[in-house]
Parts: sequence; structure tokens; C-alpha cells
Amino acid sequence: MVCLRQRLLLQLGCSGGIHKAYCHSNAVRVRFAPSPTGLLHLGGLRTALYNYFFAKSQKGSFILRIEDTDQTRIVPEAVRKLEKDLKWVGIVPDESDSVGGEYGPYLQSKRLDLYEKEVQTLLNNGSAYKCFCSDSRLNLIRKDAIKSGLVPKYDNKCRSLTNEQVEEKLKSNSKYCIRFKLSNHSESWQDLVYGNITYNVFNNEGDPVIIKSDGFPTYHFANVVDDHHMKISHVLRGVEWQISTTKHILIYRAFGWTPPKFAHLPLLLNLNGTKLSKRQGDMSVEAIRKSEIFPNALVNFVTNFGGGFHDHQRTATLHLYSMKDLIEKFDLSMLNENSCKVNPSHMKEFNRAELKRVMSSGTEEEVKGFDRDVEEAYNEEVSKPNAPNRQHLPQVCPRLVY
Ligand SMILES: [Zn+2]
Repeated sequence: MVCLRQRLLLQLGCSGGIHKAYCHSNAVRVRFAPSPTGLLHLGGLRTALYNYFFAKSQKGSFILRIEDTDQTRIVPEAVRKLEKDLKWVGIVPDESDSVGGEYGPYLQSKRLDLYEKEVQTLLNNGSAYKCFCSDSRLNLIRKDAIKSGLVPKYDNKCRSLTNEQVEEKLKSNSKYCIRFKLSNHSESWQDLVYGNITYNVFNNEGDPVIIKSDGFPTYHFANVVDDHHMKISHVLRGVEWQISTTKHILIYRAFGWTPPKFAHLPLLLNLNGTKLSKRQGDMSVEAIRKSEIFPNALVNFVTNFGGGFHDHQRTATLHLYSMKDLIEKFDLSMLNENSCKVNPSHMKEFNRAELKRVMSSGTEEEVKGFDRDVEEAYNEEVSKPNAPNRQHLPQVCPRLVY
């Protein structure tokens, strides 16, 4: 039986095997675009890995873009730590602020001129407008809506300001933001994981702010402008962004640009059903790295939920794969839609399985890297006379690892 997603890929003008479904493989460009607001956590790592697997399986490029336009939430050192975490699991971006690339800069705070230029296009073609509403007015609207049991939304008041009224307010130096004019219609688009999505944003939200009064763009605007200018072909991101995607598509249309293809990834949940968050320090990649978990054990652990691979027998036998194997086996059309609960205590089993994998079928490079890891982690033990050597590791591993 051809599943909905495979049908959809065929409809996109592709034929042949699933791996060949993305015909223009050279043109695949994906981005991982975190905000530097804290440590990389498991959900973020999984998004990065799926982007990486997809890019590499299609001989495409993986771009690391830092979305640092919310200056109030920036955590110092977050970018450096993020790059360290990615490198540790084996992700080396093809383009980033440190690596460089022809579509930079890759820090949004260095792209403000571009946003300023592009918002002018939308102001000129009537898709955007200046909003002079004060915070107190917006708060009042919010409170009134809540009192009446309605979802609070901006009432689009400044859409109807005349040019003269706008000029007057500008002359008196009134503070303003720029909003995008939502069109009132149901927009349909194809999610490569969830299938057809139809949504009327106008019915549910007021016109969104695209440039804040401090001159910085919002996420919705900057990610559209950057994805277009960085020639991003596929956007793979958490399903929490799915609700905003229709809005993003309307912005692409207002520019006359072709949107990329979207694939939303199901949520990772704690065992109690709550969303994994950056605030859970113990679930950060940094904390896991320091807790003697091997990088490839973590890679397998975090991508063990939610599908996405051919011949995936890991759940039955806990058979781990190398990064190279995971890239070969990755298939976007095999991702499933269900959110997955994560049990961190299973990570230890993955660690043992990783040890087994490297010792039985690891490449020379992997075995050497593994020796280095063990030496670093168990410095004292390894330097003792009669210390376990590589040949003994499978036997002594439970003692060494736990
Ligand atoms: Zn307004």
C-alpha cells in the first residue's frame, strides 16, 4: 500500500524509489536554526540530526543559522556550547558563522539591513503596515477578550490609517511596529510528515508583528527572509511551528517567492506527558556528554523515537547504527506523526549497545576514537598495570561504563 506521504512525494513530481523521491538532490539545503537562549536539549538535538541525516542522504547542505534577534533572551556562550555539542555528536555544518559560506552572515543580528530592505518591499506593495498602537491599548484589547471568553488578538486597527494619519504620527515621533496584513482565506499546503493542512490564520489571529518597535524582526519574518535568501529547500522543524507555517507561506506569497517544503517533527515528551524543555538541565546535551554517554549512543537514542529509517530493527534488538548507516537509512517519508515519550534511563542500555557495536563492527577510526574516550574518561584506571586494553573492553565494559 502506498502511504499518504509517499503519494504526496509522487505528486511533487518525483518518481522512482523513496530515496530518489527528491529529484533535485543537489539543491537540497536545510537549516538548523536555534536561538542562543540556553543549552541544546534533546528535542533540539533531534531536529538537528534529522536535518543533518536528510541533507547528507540527499547529498545536500546543512546550514547552522543562529536566530538571535530577541536580544533580551540571549545567554552568553550559548552559541559556542551549541557548536561544541553538535561537533561531539558528529554534526559539522557545511555553512555557519564559524565555517563561513556564500549565503552569510549566519547570525540574524548581522542581517538587520536585509530585513529592513525586505520589509520595505512589503510596505510598498501594501502587504504590511505601520502600527502605532500603544502597549496599554493592546493590553486593554487582551483583557477585554479574556473577559468575554475570546482568544485575544490584535484588532487590525492601524490597517485603516490613511497616509496622512501615518505621516502625522511619524512627524510626532510616535513609536511603531510593522505588521503583516493577513488575507482572509483558507490556505492549503502539504506537510511532508502530516499530509494536507488547511488553515485560515485570519480567523484565528490578528495581523502579526514582523518588525518590532526596536527595529528587530520577529521570528516569523526573519525565518522567511533568511530561508529564501539562503536558498533553503526543506524546512524540518518541531511540530510546535506547524500552526505558524500557514502564516509564513502567506509572507512568501506576499513577496512573490516560492516557499520551501515543510516537514514537521513530532514532539518529544517526558514520561509524564509534558514537553521536554530547555529548562531541564539534566536533559541537555552538555549534561549528557559529561555523564559518560557515548555520542553515538545518544544519537541512536534520540532518533529511536518517531521512525524515519529503513530496516530499523533497533527497537527489537537494540542494534545501533553508525552516523554513516543512519544517513543511508534515513527516509523523510518514514517519519511518523505521533509524539514520543522519552525515558532517559534507557540511555545506559544504548551506551552498552554502542560499545558492542564499535567492538564488533566499528571502523578503525571509531575504535581509535572510542579508545581515546575511554582513556580520557577513565584516566586513572587505564594507567594502572594490568589495565584493561581494547580487547578486554567488551568483558569489562559494564564495570567501566557503570
Ligand atoms: Zn495598531
